[in-house]
Amino acid sequence: MLFENSLAFARQLDQADPLRSYRDRFYIPERNGKPLIYFCGNSLGLQPKTARQALDCELAIWQQHGVEGWFEGENPWLTIHQRCKEPLAQIVGANPSEVCPMNNLTVNLHLLLTSFYQPTGNRTKILTIGGDFPSDQYALETHIQTRGLNPADTLVEVFPRTHEHTWQTADILDAVEQYRDSLALVLMSGLHYYTGQVFDMAAIAQKARQIGVPIGFDLAHAVGNIPLKLHDWGVDFAFWCSYKYLNSGPGGVSGIFVHENHHAAALPRLAGWWGYDEARRFEMTKGFVPMPGADGWQLSTPTVLAMAVHHAALQLTAEAGLDALRRKSELLTGFLEFVLRETAGLQIITPINAAERGCQLSLLIDHDGKTVFNRLTEQGVIGDWREPDCIRLAPTPLYNTFEEVWRVGQAFASC
Ligand SMILES: *Cc1c(COP(=O)(O)O)cnc(C)c1O
Repeated sequence: MLFENSLAFARQLDQADPLRSYRDRFYIPERNGKPLIYFCGNSLGLQPKTARQALDCELAIWQQHGVEGWFEGENPWLTIHQRCKEPLAQIVGANPSEVCPMNNLTVNLHLLLTSFYQPTGNRTKILTIGGDFPSDQYALETHIQTRGLNPADTLVEVFPRTHEHTWQTADILDAVEQYRDSLALVLMSGLHYYTGQVFDMAAIAQKARQIGVPIGFDLAHAVGNIPLKLHDWGVDFAFWCSYKYLNSGPGGVSGIFVHENHHAAALPRLAGWWGYDEARRFEMTKGFVPMPGADGWQLSTPTVLAMAVHHAALQLTAEAGLDALRRKSELLTGFLEFVLRETAGLQIITPINAAERGCQLSLLIDHDGKTVFNRLTEQGVIGDWREPDCIRLAPTPLYNTFEEVWRVGQAFASC
Protein backbone atom coordinates (compact mmCIF):
# COMPACT_ATOMS: atom_id res chain seq x y z
CA MET A 1 0.00 0.00 0.00
CA LEU A 2 1.16 3.55 -0.74
CA PHE A 3 0.92 5.48 2.50
CA GLU A 4 0.41 9.20 2.92
CA ASN A 5 1.50 11.10 5.98
CA SER A 6 -1.77 12.92 6.64
CA LEU A 7 -4.57 12.83 9.17
CA ALA A 8 -7.16 12.43 6.42
CA PHE A 9 -5.36 9.37 5.07
CA ALA A 10 -5.05 7.83 8.55
CA ARG A 11 -8.78 8.35 9.10
CA GLN A 12 -9.54 6.67 5.79
CA LEU A 13 -7.60 3.62 6.92
CA ASP A 14 -9.56 3.60 10.19
CA GLN A 15 -12.83 3.80 8.27
CA ALA A 16 -11.82 0.82 6.16
CA ASP A 17 -10.59 -1.22 9.14
CA PRO A 18 -12.83 -4.29 9.64
CA LEU A 19 -11.62 -4.61 13.27
CA ARG A 20 -12.25 -0.99 14.28
CA SER A 21 -15.14 -1.85 16.64
CA TYR A 22 -12.82 -3.84 18.94
CA ARG A 23 -11.29 -0.65 20.35
CA ASP A 24 -14.60 0.07 22.11
CA ARG A 25 -14.33 -3.21 23.95
CA PHE A 26 -11.28 -2.02 25.89
CA TYR A 27 -10.71 0.71 28.43
CA ILE A 28 -8.25 3.21 26.94
CA PRO A 29 -6.22 4.91 29.70
CA GLU A 30 -6.68 8.68 29.94
CA ARG A 31 -4.81 11.66 31.26
CA ASN A 32 -6.66 14.93 32.00
CA GLY A 33 -9.74 13.47 30.36
CA LYS A 34 -7.91 12.74 27.09
CA PRO A 35 -7.19 9.21 25.87
CA LEU A 36 -3.52 8.32 25.86
CA ILE A 37 -1.92 6.82 22.78
CA TYR A 38 -1.15 3.45 24.29
CA PHE A 39 1.54 1.66 22.28
CA CYS A 40 2.61 -0.55 25.15
CA GLY A 41 0.61 -3.74 24.58
CA ASN A 42 3.94 -5.56 24.35
CA SER A 43 4.38 -4.96 28.06
CA LEU A 44 0.84 -4.91 29.47
CA GLY A 45 -2.22 -5.24 27.25
CA LEU A 46 -5.24 -3.05 28.03
CA GLN A 47 -8.22 -4.08 30.09
CA PRO A 48 -11.13 -5.64 28.18
CA LYS A 49 -14.44 -4.16 29.37
CA THR A 50 -15.66 -7.71 30.04
CA ALA A 51 -12.87 -8.37 32.55
CA ARG A 52 -14.66 -6.87 35.54
CA GLN A 53 -17.87 -8.70 34.78
CA ALA A 54 -16.00 -12.02 34.53
CA LEU A 55 -14.30 -11.31 37.83
CA ASP A 56 -17.56 -10.21 39.50
CA CYS A 57 -19.21 -13.40 38.35
CA GLU A 58 -16.66 -15.59 40.18
CA LEU A 59 -16.68 -13.28 43.22
CA ALA A 60 -20.46 -13.69 43.40
CA ILE A 61 -20.14 -17.47 43.25
CA TRP A 62 -17.54 -17.38 46.01
CA GLN A 63 -19.77 -15.05 48.04
CA GLN A 64 -22.88 -17.20 47.66
CA HIS A 65 -21.50 -20.70 47.55
CA GLY A 66 -18.11 -20.69 49.27
CA VAL A 67 -16.36 -23.98 48.66
CA GLU A 68 -19.29 -25.30 46.65
CA GLY A 69 -18.09 -23.01 43.85
CA TRP A 70 -15.71 -25.79 42.89
CA PHE A 71 -18.68 -27.92 41.89
CA GLU A 72 -21.68 -25.56 41.56
CA GLY A 73 -23.25 -23.93 38.56
CA GLU A 74 -22.70 -23.98 34.84
CA ASN A 75 -18.94 -23.45 34.99
CA PRO A 76 -17.61 -25.02 38.17
CA TRP A 77 -14.10 -23.91 39.17
CA LEU A 78 -12.95 -27.52 39.11
CA THR A 79 -12.78 -27.44 35.34
CA ILE A 80 -12.30 -23.70 34.84
CA HIS A 81 -9.07 -24.20 32.87
CA GLN A 82 -11.01 -26.11 30.21
CA ARG A 83 -12.90 -22.97 29.20
CA CYS A 84 -9.68 -21.43 27.94
CA LYS A 85 -8.50 -24.40 25.90
CA GLU A 86 -10.52 -23.82 22.72
CA PRO A 87 -9.58 -20.16 22.25
CA LEU A 88 -5.96 -20.85 23.23
CA ALA A 89 -5.73 -23.74 20.78
CA GLN A 90 -7.05 -21.50 18.03
CA ILE A 91 -4.61 -18.70 18.89
CA VAL A 92 -1.47 -20.87 18.96
CA GLY A 93 -2.44 -23.36 16.24
CA ALA A 94 -2.88 -26.46 18.35
CA ASN A 95 -5.40 -29.09 19.38
CA PRO A 96 -7.18 -28.28 22.65
CA SER A 97 -5.51 -31.26 24.35
CA GLU A 98 -2.10 -29.75 23.52
CA VAL A 99 -2.63 -26.52 25.48
CA CYS A 100 -3.35 -25.65 29.08
CA PRO A 101 -3.51 -22.35 30.97
CA MET A 102 -1.56 -22.55 34.23
CA ASN A 103 0.98 -20.88 36.52
CA ASN A 104 3.22 -18.09 35.28
CA LEU A 105 5.65 -18.08 32.41
CA THR A 106 8.96 -18.70 34.14
CA VAL A 107 7.43 -21.42 36.33
CA ASN A 108 6.19 -23.17 33.20
CA LEU A 109 9.58 -22.82 31.56
CA HIS A 110 11.16 -24.65 34.50
CA LEU A 111 8.50 -27.37 34.41
CA LEU A 112 8.98 -27.93 30.69
CA LEU A 113 12.77 -27.91 30.96
CA THR A 114 12.45 -30.68 33.51
CA SER A 115 10.58 -32.74 30.94
CA PHE A 116 12.36 -31.85 27.72
CA TYR A 117 15.95 -31.19 28.75
CA GLN A 118 17.41 -34.67 29.12
CA PRO A 119 21.19 -34.40 28.83
CA THR A 120 22.66 -37.84 28.11
CA GLY A 121 26.17 -38.89 27.11
CA ASN A 122 27.63 -36.36 24.69
CA ARG A 123 24.31 -34.69 24.13
CA THR A 124 24.15 -32.11 26.89
CA LYS A 125 24.10 -28.72 25.18
CA ILE A 126 21.23 -26.26 24.85
CA LEU A 127 21.18 -24.01 21.80
CA THR A 128 19.60 -20.60 22.29
CA ILE A 129 19.94 -17.03 21.07
CA GLY A 130 22.37 -14.70 22.83
CA GLY A 131 20.65 -11.84 24.67
CA ASP A 132 17.26 -13.47 25.11
CA PHE A 133 14.97 -12.20 27.88
CA PRO A 134 16.78 -12.35 31.26
CA SER A 135 14.27 -14.66 32.98
CA ASP A 136 14.79 -17.24 30.23
CA GLN A 137 18.57 -16.93 30.56
CA TYR A 138 18.40 -17.45 34.33
CA ALA A 139 16.10 -20.45 33.93
CA LEU A 140 18.48 -22.11 31.47
CA GLU A 141 21.56 -21.30 33.52
CA THR A 142 20.13 -22.69 36.76
CA HIS A 143 18.58 -25.75 35.10
CA ILE A 144 21.97 -26.63 33.67
CA GLN A 145 23.56 -26.17 37.11
CA THR A 146 20.99 -28.40 38.81
CA ARG A 147 22.00 -31.17 36.38
CA GLY A 148 25.59 -30.81 37.58
CA LEU A 149 26.74 -29.15 34.36
CA ASN A 150 28.52 -25.88 33.69
CA PRO A 151 26.51 -23.24 31.80
CA ALA A 152 29.66 -21.89 30.10
CA ASP A 153 30.29 -25.24 28.35
CA THR A 154 26.66 -26.21 27.96
CA LEU A 155 24.92 -23.16 26.49
CA VAL A 156 25.42 -22.49 22.80
CA GLU A 157 24.34 -18.92 22.09
CA VAL A 158 23.80 -17.64 18.56
CA PHE A 159 24.25 -13.89 18.18
CA PRO A 160 23.48 -11.44 15.37
CA ARG A 161 26.44 -10.81 13.05
CA THR A 162 28.81 -7.93 13.83
CA HIS A 163 27.12 -4.57 13.20
CA GLU A 164 23.73 -6.25 12.82
CA HIS A 165 20.91 -6.07 15.35
CA THR A 166 18.88 -9.08 14.27
CA TRP A 167 19.59 -12.73 13.57
CA GLN A 168 19.98 -14.47 10.24
CA THR A 169 17.93 -17.67 10.17
CA ALA A 170 20.79 -19.39 8.33
CA ASP A 171 23.12 -18.72 11.28
CA ILE A 172 20.70 -20.42 13.69
CA LEU A 173 20.21 -23.40 11.36
CA ASP A 174 23.97 -23.67 10.79
CA ALA A 175 24.62 -23.67 14.53
CA VAL A 176 22.08 -26.46 15.05
CA GLU A 177 23.89 -28.42 12.34
CA GLN A 178 27.32 -27.65 13.77
CA TYR A 179 26.36 -28.94 17.22
CA ARG A 180 24.12 -31.75 16.01
CA ASP A 181 25.93 -34.44 17.99
CA SER A 182 26.14 -32.54 21.27
CA LEU A 183 22.73 -30.86 21.50
CA ALA A 184 20.08 -31.99 23.97
CA LEU A 185 17.65 -29.12 23.35
CA VAL A 186 16.94 -26.02 21.28
CA LEU A 187 15.11 -23.33 23.25
CA MET A 188 14.57 -19.73 22.23
CA SER A 189 12.04 -16.96 21.86
CA GLY A 190 9.77 -17.12 18.84
CA LEU A 191 9.65 -13.33 18.68
CA HIS A 192 12.49 -11.37 20.24
CA TYR A 193 11.35 -9.00 22.99
CA TYR A 194 13.94 -6.29 22.30
CA THR A 195 14.20 -6.10 18.52
CA GLY A 196 10.70 -7.35 17.68
CA GLN A 197 12.19 -9.88 15.24
CA VAL A 198 10.03 -12.92 14.39
CA PHE A 199 12.10 -16.07 14.02
CA ASP A 200 11.35 -18.61 11.34
CA MET A 201 9.92 -21.09 13.82
CA ALA A 202 8.82 -23.54 11.12
CA ALA A 203 12.33 -23.79 9.65
CA ILE A 204 14.07 -23.99 13.02
CA ALA A 205 11.64 -26.66 14.26
CA GLN A 206 12.14 -28.65 11.08
CA LYS A 207 15.91 -28.51 11.49
CA ALA A 208 15.70 -29.61 15.13
CA ARG A 209 13.44 -32.50 14.17
CA GLN A 210 15.83 -33.50 11.42
CA ILE A 211 18.65 -33.98 13.94
CA GLY A 212 16.33 -35.50 16.55
CA VAL A 213 16.57 -32.76 19.18
CA PRO A 214 13.53 -31.40 21.04
CA ILE A 215 12.64 -27.77 20.37
CA GLY A 216 10.75 -25.30 22.56
CA PHE A 217 9.71 -21.70 21.99
CA ASP A 218 9.03 -18.88 24.41
CA LEU A 219 6.04 -17.13 22.88
CA ALA A 220 5.67 -14.25 25.36
CA HIS A 221 5.83 -11.67 22.56
CA ALA A 222 4.41 -13.87 19.82
CA VAL A 223 1.11 -15.10 21.24
CA GLY A 224 -1.80 -12.92 20.13
CA ASN A 225 0.64 -10.94 17.97
CA ILE A 226 1.34 -13.23 15.02
CA PRO A 227 -0.39 -16.36 13.68
CA LEU A 228 1.19 -19.54 15.05
CA LYS A 229 0.95 -23.15 13.89
CA LEU A 230 2.66 -24.98 16.70
CA HIS A 231 1.12 -28.35 15.93
CA ASP A 232 1.85 -28.29 12.20
CA TRP A 233 5.35 -26.92 12.68
CA GLY A 234 6.13 -29.91 14.90
CA VAL A 235 7.24 -27.78 17.84
CA ASP A 236 7.71 -30.02 20.88
CA PHE A 237 6.70 -27.53 23.53
CA ALA A 238 6.00 -23.84 24.05
CA PHE A 239 4.92 -21.44 26.78
CA TRP A 240 3.77 -17.85 27.00
CA CYS A 241 2.34 -15.20 29.29
CA SER A 242 -1.11 -13.70 28.86
CA TYR A 243 -0.62 -10.16 30.09
CA LYS A 244 1.03 -8.81 26.92
CA TYR A 245 -0.91 -9.25 23.68
CA LEU A 246 -3.56 -11.47 25.30
CA ASN A 247 -4.72 -8.64 27.59
CA SER A 248 -5.39 -10.88 30.59
CA GLY A 249 -4.18 -8.50 33.27
CA PRO A 250 -0.95 -7.92 35.21
CA GLY A 251 0.66 -11.24 36.11
CA GLY A 252 -2.17 -13.09 34.34
CA VAL A 253 -2.21 -16.85 33.84
CA SER A 254 0.48 -18.30 31.57
CA GLY A 255 -0.06 -21.20 29.20
CA ILE A 256 1.79 -24.18 27.79
CA PHE A 257 1.77 -26.25 24.62
CA VAL A 258 2.95 -29.87 24.52
CA HIS A 259 2.79 -31.56 21.12
CA GLU A 260 0.49 -34.54 20.80
CA ASN A 261 3.53 -36.66 19.86
CA HIS A 262 4.50 -36.58 23.54
CA HIS A 263 1.12 -37.32 25.09
CA ALA A 264 1.56 -41.07 25.24
CA ALA A 265 5.12 -40.97 26.58
CA ALA A 266 5.60 -40.82 30.33
CA LEU A 267 7.93 -37.82 30.23
CA PRO A 268 9.74 -37.01 33.45
CA ARG A 269 8.14 -34.11 35.24
CA LEU A 270 7.68 -32.29 38.50
CA ALA A 271 4.18 -33.26 39.48
CA GLY A 272 1.41 -31.79 41.57
CA TRP A 273 -2.07 -33.02 42.38
CA TRP A 274 -3.78 -30.84 39.78
CA GLY A 275 -1.95 -32.69 37.02
CA TYR A 276 -3.20 -36.01 38.37
CA ASP A 277 -5.80 -37.98 36.46
CA GLU A 278 -8.94 -35.89 37.00
CA ALA A 279 -11.27 -38.85 37.47
CA ARG A 280 -9.20 -40.12 40.41
CA ARG A 281 -7.68 -36.91 41.79
CA PHE A 282 -9.69 -36.99 44.98
CA GLU A 283 -8.82 -40.60 45.79
CA MET A 284 -5.63 -39.00 47.11
CA THR A 285 -3.60 -42.15 46.53
CA LYS A 286 0.14 -42.62 46.15
CA GLY A 287 1.87 -42.82 42.78
CA PHE A 288 1.44 -40.02 40.24
CA VAL A 289 -0.84 -40.72 37.27
CA PRO A 290 -0.79 -37.72 34.89
CA MET A 291 -3.76 -36.35 33.01
CA PRO A 292 -3.32 -36.99 29.31
CA GLY A 293 -2.01 -34.05 27.27
CA ALA A 294 -0.85 -30.64 28.41
CA ASP A 295 -3.16 -30.81 31.44
CA GLY A 296 -0.79 -33.32 32.99
CA TRP A 297 1.74 -30.55 33.69
CA GLN A 298 -0.62 -28.68 36.01
CA LEU A 299 0.58 -28.47 39.59
CA SER A 300 -1.74 -26.50 41.75
CA THR A 301 -5.27 -25.41 42.33
CA PRO A 302 -6.02 -22.97 39.51
CA THR A 303 -6.05 -19.22 40.24
CA VAL A 304 -9.76 -18.91 39.54
CA LEU A 305 -10.00 -15.10 39.53
CA ALA A 306 -7.10 -14.64 37.12
CA MET A 307 -8.43 -17.48 34.97
CA ALA A 308 -11.83 -15.79 34.70
CA VAL A 309 -10.25 -12.60 33.36
CA HIS A 310 -8.01 -14.63 31.05
CA HIS A 311 -11.04 -16.38 29.60
CA ALA A 312 -12.88 -13.11 28.99
CA ALA A 313 -9.81 -11.59 27.32
CA LEU A 314 -9.15 -14.64 25.14
CA GLN A 315 -12.63 -14.37 23.66
CA LEU A 316 -11.71 -11.06 22.05
CA THR A 317 -8.53 -12.28 20.37
CA ALA A 318 -10.12 -15.55 19.26
CA GLU A 319 -13.20 -13.78 17.95
CA ALA A 320 -11.20 -11.23 15.94
CA GLY A 321 -9.02 -14.08 14.67
CA LEU A 322 -5.28 -14.04 14.18
CA ASP A 323 -5.49 -13.82 10.39
CA ALA A 324 -7.56 -10.63 10.47
CA LEU A 325 -5.45 -9.23 13.31
CA ARG A 326 -2.32 -9.96 11.34
CA ARG A 327 -3.64 -8.22 8.21
CA LYS A 328 -4.39 -5.08 10.19
CA SER A 329 -1.17 -5.35 12.16
CA GLU A 330 1.01 -5.39 9.04
CA LEU A 331 -0.70 -2.23 7.81
CA LEU A 332 -0.62 -0.49 11.18
CA THR A 333 3.06 -1.21 11.80
CA GLY A 334 3.89 -0.48 8.17
CA PHE A 335 2.21 2.89 8.58
CA LEU A 336 4.17 3.57 11.78
CA GLU A 337 7.40 2.73 9.97
CA PHE A 338 6.33 5.11 7.17
CA VAL A 339 5.52 8.07 9.42
CA LEU A 340 8.77 7.62 11.38
CA ARG A 341 11.03 7.08 8.39
CA GLU A 342 11.87 10.75 7.91
CA THR A 343 12.60 11.43 11.59
CA ALA A 344 16.20 12.49 12.08
CA GLY A 345 18.37 10.69 14.63
CA LEU A 346 16.21 7.62 14.77
CA GLN A 347 17.08 4.12 13.61
CA ILE A 348 14.54 1.29 13.37
CA ILE A 349 16.29 -1.95 14.32
CA THR A 350 13.21 -4.17 13.86
CA PRO A 351 13.30 -5.99 10.50
CA ILE A 352 11.79 -3.97 7.65
CA ASN A 353 10.37 -7.12 6.05
CA ALA A 354 6.82 -7.51 7.44
CA ALA A 355 7.12 -11.32 7.61
CA GLU A 356 9.99 -10.95 10.07
CA ARG A 357 8.26 -8.73 12.60
CA GLY A 358 5.10 -8.51 14.65
CA CYS A 359 3.49 -5.23 15.63
CA GLN A 360 6.43 -3.79 17.58
CA LEU A 361 9.04 -1.38 16.25
CA SER A 362 12.22 -0.87 18.27
CA LEU A 363 13.84 2.52 17.72
CA LEU A 364 17.38 3.50 18.62
CA ILE A 365 17.69 7.20 19.34
CA ASP A 366 21.02 8.82 18.40
CA HIS A 367 21.36 11.05 21.39
CA ASP A 368 19.39 12.02 24.45
CA GLY A 369 16.97 9.15 23.93
CA LYS A 370 15.53 9.46 27.42
CA THR A 371 14.62 13.11 26.77
CA VAL A 372 12.87 12.13 23.53
CA PHE A 373 11.01 9.41 25.38
CA ASN A 374 9.96 11.81 28.15
CA ARG A 375 8.70 14.35 25.59
CA LEU A 376 6.63 11.66 23.93
CA THR A 377 5.17 10.69 27.29
CA GLU A 378 4.31 14.35 27.97
CA GLN A 379 2.44 14.39 24.68
CA GLY A 380 0.42 11.37 25.75
CA VAL A 381 2.32 8.69 23.83
CA ILE A 382 2.89 5.62 26.01
CA GLY A 383 5.75 3.49 24.75
CA ASP A 384 8.44 1.63 26.58
CA TRP A 385 11.99 2.69 27.35
CA ARG A 386 15.02 0.38 27.43
CA GLU A 387 18.39 1.69 28.55
CA PRO A 388 20.53 3.07 27.06
CA ASP A 389 18.85 4.28 23.86
CA CYS A 390 15.86 2.21 22.82
CA ILE A 391 12.15 3.11 22.54
CA ARG A 392 9.81 0.26 21.77
CA LEU A 393 6.41 1.10 20.28
CA ALA A 394 3.76 -1.55 19.73
CA PRO A 395 0.61 -0.45 17.88
CA THR A 396 -1.65 -3.40 18.62
CA PRO A 397 -4.32 -4.23 16.07
CA LEU A 398 -7.06 -5.03 18.61
CA TYR A 399 -7.30 -1.51 20.03
CA ASN A 400 -4.96 0.93 18.28
CA THR A 401 -5.87 3.10 15.31
CA PHE A 402 -4.17 4.50 12.23
CA GLU A 403 -4.95 7.99 13.51
CA GLU A 404 -2.96 7.25 16.65
CA VAL A 405 -0.04 6.11 14.50
CA TRP A 406 -0.18 9.37 12.56
CA ARG A 407 -0.25 11.32 15.84
CA VAL A 408 2.83 9.45 17.06
CA GLY A 409 4.62 10.56 13.89
CA GLN A 410 3.60 14.17 14.68
CA ALA A 411 4.75 13.79 18.28
CA PHE A 412 8.21 12.63 17.14
CA ALA A 413 8.44 15.47 14.67
CA SER A 414 7.94 17.97 17.50
CA CYS A 415 10.43 16.33 19.92
C1 LIG B 1 7.57 -11.02 29.41
C2 LIG B 1 8.53 -12.13 29.28
C3 LIG B 1 8.81 -12.98 30.37
C4 LIG B 1 8.18 -12.75 31.72
O1 LIG B 1 8.14 -13.91 32.49
P1 LIG B 1 7.17 -14.00 33.77
O2 LIG B 1 7.48 -15.30 34.34
O3 LIG B 1 5.76 -13.84 33.26
O4 LIG B 1 7.51 -12.85 34.66
C5 LIG B 1 9.70 -14.02 30.17
N1 LIG B 1 10.29 -14.23 28.97
C6 LIG B 1 10.06 -13.42 27.90
C7 LIG B 1 10.73 -13.69 26.59
C8 LIG B 1 9.18 -12.34 28.04
O5 LIG B 1 8.97 -11.53 27.00
